[in-house]
Amino acid sequence: DLCIQRAKQKSELNAFITLTEEIAENHAIESEKRTYIDKKMRPLEGITIAIKDNFCTKNIPTTCASNMLKNFVPTYDATVYSRLINSGACLVGKSNLDEFAMGSGTVDSIFGPTRNPWFSSEDWKISGGSSGGSAVSVSSGSCVAAIGSDTGGSTRNPAALCGVIGLKPTYGLVSRYGLIPLVNSMDVPGILARNIDDTTKILNCVAGPDTLDATTVKKPFKPINITDIDLSQIKIGIPVEYHCEGMSTEVIGLWRHIADLLENEKCQIQSVTLPHTSVSIAAYSILNQCEVASNMARYDGLEFGLRTSEDYSTEELYASTRCIGFNNVVRSRIFAGNYFLLTRNYEKYFLKALRLRRLISDDFNKVFNGPNSVDLLLTPTTLTDAPTYNDFTSKHNRDQCALQDYCTQPANMAGIPAVSIPIRVSTNNMPLSLQLMGPAFSEQVLLNVAKRIE
Ligand code: GLN
Repeated sequence: DLCIQRAKQKSELNAFITLTEEIAENHAIESEKRTYIDKKMRPLEGITIAIKDNFCTKNIPTTCASNMLKNFVPTYDATVYSRLINSGACLVGKSNLDEFAMGSGTVDSIFGPTRNPWFSSEDWKISGGSSGGSAVSVSSGSCVAAIGSDTGGSTRNPAALCGVIGLKPTYGLVSRYGLIPLVNSMDVPGILARNIDDTTKILNCVAGPDTLDATTVKKPFKPINITDIDLSQIKIGIPVEYHCEGMSTEVIGLWRHIADLLENEKCQIQSVTLPHTSVSIAAYSILNQCEVASNMARYDGLEFGLRTSEDYSTEELYASTRCIGFNNVVRSRIFAGNYFLLTRNYEKYFLKALRLRRLISDDFNKVFNGPNSVDLLLTPTTLTDAPTYNDFTSKHNRDQCALQDYCTQPANMAGIPAVSIPIRVSTNNMPLSLQLMGPAFSEQVLLNVAKRIE
């Protein structure tokens, strides 16, 4: 009740597309009736959550912030959502995003942009994205935790800019069933919460094999346990290539400061190299656009979603539906993806990008498994603190949009887990965060070290 009230009070932030007041009320009534034993069996009993509006929720609209799905009501639940509900969690609402999760600002939603709740005297700041609604719902106190999706940084980026934890689990650890796809080979459900303990509790409820998603690993999931680990046993690498152009001196200073603090705690810190980092953005963009072109083909105005009244020919219906249904970002990605997939371009772009992806993955493998290996990597999450809406949407920055994902997106290329941890506020009074990355399925150590940094 209090969470719904809070969400309404903070409606100017535009974190939610749909508030599920009735569901939350019914949950509270049912919860009252449960016995103590019942409640103990459900680790999230009464915990309020928000779910990004690209996860299917039965009988609750799921719009992807797009005209194409504005009136779409799924007939089934995403696995992540059903696992949370079965664990006792209570849905406050479906949160705002960039259309079809394409973006890093939550500025491209048909429902309008989501605002960063952190105080700023100037123009208002963006929340980051594309899971901006999820980050703001947690940061502004409308729920305890939220689910986002992370294809190139969409959970970690808004978490960093709004001052909350953002976890991208290993690809295959958490089911994608019911998550409307962006890039199937990189999409992962992400978790946003105020601290590592809450993040871990949510992960423990949603992770593990799912027969409905063939890419989940078959091995049963061993719940993560937060303990007081001995930092002198942990080696942390600082990848030199993550010092990139456009990174603010404040972010670099913070990165150095935390590395020093960890060293004081007897952690072993060393410089490492991930030589293919600088090509990651270009390779990611090509793979992203190719998969988008293929994924979006299902929205043809015939089977489901929007259908315009064009009745001259099927071709015209198809074209006008997609023209009205999608924004410019989505349409341009479809266009570029189809170009890269033409027979004459396939080898030159798509296959080359796949090869680069392999090299990026190998870079991480060498650092984690080669001689002189490290357990984790420490980097910034974003290059700066949250920009203002006007700055972010200026033409120049639009063209540079992919740079926002410079530090986050290689982890998706390699499928490895990463967590963004808020550290302190900048001179602009906005949150600054750092990221830890680890080898596949290293969530146990990743979250335990994160706990020591938070
Ligand atoms: N900003 C990236 C993109 O637009 C990542 C999006 C995401 O992780 N969903 O593709």
